[in-house]
Amino acid sequence: MIRQKIVAGNWKMNGSVESITALVTDLLKADSSNSEVVVSPSFPYLHLVSTLCAQNDQIKLAAQNVSDKASGAFTGEVSASMLEDFAVKYVLVGHSERRSLYGETDDVVALKVQSLINKDFIPMLCIGETLEEREAGQTLAVCERQIKAVLDLLGVEAFNRIVIAYEPVWAIGTGLSATAEQAQAVHSGIRAFLASFSESVAQRVQILYGGSVKASSSRDLFAMPDIDGALVGGASLDAKEFLEIVKAAG
Ligand code: PGA
Repeated sequence: MIRQKIVAGNWKMNGSVESITALVTDLLKADSSNSEVVVSPSFPYLHLVSTLCAQNDQIKLAAQNVSDKASGAFTGEVSASMLEDFAVKYVLVGHSERRSLYGETDDVVALKVQSLINKDFIPMLCIGETLEEREAGQTLAVCERQIKAVLDLLGVEAFNRIVIAYEPVWAIGTGLSATAEQAQAVHSGIRAFLASFSESVAQRVQILYGGSVKASSSRDLFAMPDIDGALVGGASLDAKEFLEIVKAAG
């Protein structure tokens, strides 16, 4: 099965009107790509980026988070229906920073996935193990547990509408990317786990790798059969570097 590659930039809590306008302007100058290019600004910049990209179908928009609640007295939260007012296609859910710094549990993450699927967004479900868990041989068990929470709530067919991002916590923002072989081993394990529920869903689901992806490491990662793209943090803030990664994806 040919799965289209996705290269997504997670800008995290970075940028200003000025820097984001410059970054998007540079990205829009790039040649068209066979991969899907996605950028994920903070909420206040969604409108700006969707306006800048309005004439160009090349760049899709992702939000970085969503509330698991529909509406009401939840100060500071942003609902899935609010995101419908912007040209958002994807939404990150369960990023390790959300899980570790803001206490998001597997169950809350699953509820967020549900609220997004109900509104026709594509969740980018982030999963991954800590260094301690890897050293204890728990890598796949952790990824499976994080996926299972969504499977239990929504069933395997939901994964026809979900992108998975495997992001080992020890690789995020550390400059220490997993090797292509390490990432491939986990990606194929994740696919095999989903195949035990549905072979066709497992073959279709796009699994991105994230964690210190750079232009220099991206070609080896993308050559792996089960790596369908990248979720890029730090390197996505540099248009030249990010576009090199897009180019490596083909
Ligand atoms: P990084 O971040 O590329 O800076 O490691 C990846 C991510 O957190 O999505």
